[in-house]
Amino acid sequence: MPKRCFVGIDLGGTNIKGGVVDEDGKVLCKRSIRTEAENGPDHVIDLMAQLVERVIAEAGLTKSQVEAVGIGSPGSMSHTQGIVIKPPNLPGWQDVPLRDRIKNMTGLPTTLENDANAAAWGEFWAGAGKGTRHMVMLTLGTGVGGGVITNGKLMRGHFDNAAELGHWILQPGGRQCGCGQRGCLEAYASASYTAQRATEAVKAGEASSLADVVKSQGEITSKEVVIAATAGDPLAKRILDETCYYLAIACVNIQHATNPERIVLAGGMIAAGEDALLVPIRTKAAGMTWNAAKDLPQIMFATLGNDAGLIGAAGCAWLGREEGEI
Ligand SMILES: [Zn+2]
Repeated sequence: MPKRCFVGIDLGGTNIKGGVVDEDGKVLCKRSIRTEAENGPDHVIDLMAQLVERVIAEAGLTKSQVEAVGIGSPGSMSHTQGIVIKPPNLPGWQDVPLRDRIKNMTGLPTTLENDANAAAWGEFWAGAGKGTRHMVMLTLGTGVGGGVITNGKLMRGHFDNAAELGHWILQPGGRQCGCGQRGCLEAYASASYTAQRATEAVKAGEASSLADVVKSQGEITSKEVVIAATAGDPLAKRILDETCYYLAIACVNIQHATNPERIVLAGGMIAAGEDALLVPIRTKAAGMTWNAAKDLPQIMFATLGNDAGLIGAAGCAWLGREEGEI
């Protein structure tokens, strides 16, 4: 019997990734195109619908052999209504009924999911969380995205805004976060904010090998922080240590909130590697967790890389069909 197939579309401000994924989470075909977001929502939606048709053809399938389409969308959105509300990196988008427009254009059942949730579902379905029932993912990129799967179900919440773990306030009155709050996990531990903290420290006059980078480029990247820390630079080591500290707090809070089997870390920051990121987070979390039970989750890296979004979006289409929602 042929395997069931789904299309996953990962909508980003710069690129749209699309692919055909089978019921085991295996990518049969994938493609990435420019979003051309400057041309507005109608243009982007046309590109997305064309991408659905194209990947189906490139996988050697016909539309009747594809069960559904899943879309992972950035920013605030409503899964229930299928509406993209106002993503910061897609100019001109306001309350766009993306789900129904793609459904009408392609003739396929379609579901819309927050991109962090979709990526988490992808890892749960086919990556680092495979085989578990309870998994939480933190994506450490420009921001910190969260996704919570509990008892095999994606947690969405009443307003479809659950699992915004990046905006957990870990330092009351602390650093200003882009979301309007202060002291969010994101404002310390995302790749961008880790780099920003290093740039600020150098500009404030702290001695570091990164001073030359600031002088030549104006700012530091998270990758440069990791390289400098690995080489023994004291400032870079302190910055990275703080990132690990806040992530360890987040892991202990996650442990107590949903008691997952695994916490999966994803995103650009994990390029830092096991020794620079995972080991210190595990050590710090083990050192600060309670002694009432031995239930600290396994903390590990995601395995699907850049494909997590599109695999997860396809996985959400699979989930929508399984649950009879689409
Ligand atoms: Zn925030």
